[in-house]
Amino acid sequence: MNEQRDNVWRGVAIITGASSGIGEAIVKKLASNAEGIVIAARRIDRLTLLAKSLGDNVIPVQCDVQNKAEVEHAVQTTLDRFGRVDTLINNAGIAPMSSMLRGRVEDWENTIDTNIKGVLYGIAAVLPHMLKQKTGRIINISSEAGRRVFPGSAVYCASKHAVRVISEGLQIDLSARSQKDGNDIKVSTILPGYVLTDLPESVTFEPARNEFKKNMQNVEGPLQGNDIADCIQFILNAPDHVEIGEMTVRPTKQVM
Ligand code: NDP
Repeated sequence: MNEQRDNVWRGVAIITGASSGIGEAIVKKLASNAEGIVIAARRIDRLTLLAKSLGDNVIPVQCDVQNKAEVEHAVQTTLDRFGRVDTLINNAGIAPMSSMLRGRVEDWENTIDTNIKGVLYGIAAVLPHMLKQKTGRIINISSEAGRRVFPGSAVYCASKHAVRVISEGLQIDLSARSQKDGNDIKVSTILPGYVLTDLPESVTFEPARNEFKKNMQNVEGPLQGNDIADCIQFILNAPDHVEIGEMTVRPTKQVM
């Protein structure tokens, strides 16, 4: 048994999409042991309330992940306040699903700009610092939709496939580099099944939103945000030499 298993992560993290659902649950899980957490999302009022309830080490930053400069600002805030960035959790995401036949191009653009480009902007902003530090953790939230394609959600599924593939590609590039410079930067991807959150509210086409809600409610024992936060904690607490690449987690009774 590895004694480091009992280690508790006490670093500095940035968490995107922290104003609700999974992101909020992650913040609540990590805050008490973290040296510092910068929580980022568009709804600054919700972030401010959350930060106030948790303590001075939690810093709210308004940030639209579609905007590269705002993502860079969130990272700079972390460096200014805490002097380093140990962990990035790319969690912000939307799911404006509908049949492709409806041609909702604006939804497609928003999905790609948030779920793919937002993740890339986060990686681009933290990576130079992690490479300099020779250490870091990047955790990307993909989805079951990152492995499979469901009806009426082609672009969402494509975006989550992209997140999974980007994570894997980053991990490959980093491990090649770590052979040269000894860095221990690790990349992990979580692929959740149904988690009871506000995600259906991001569906702009009403019939699709109602169907998403119904499907979510029909799952017996859906996951809660806290279940994904537990996965994050497990990943962060792993010893330095252990990299958890992918973690699929779904409700036990979700019919696949
Ligand atoms: P929520 O809708 O509860 O949370 C989404 C979060 O993303 C919010 O905090 C929202 O904050 C933020 N967000 C959305 N767009 C942007 C943006 N442009 N810039 C910054 N933040 C943004 O849903 P979940 O908690 O369920 O979603 C979190 C992640 O989990 C997503 O990536 C989702 O795809 C993924 N996931 C969810 C599953 C589920 O069943 N719930 C299953 C599999 C994966 P704000 O509006 O304040 O900006």
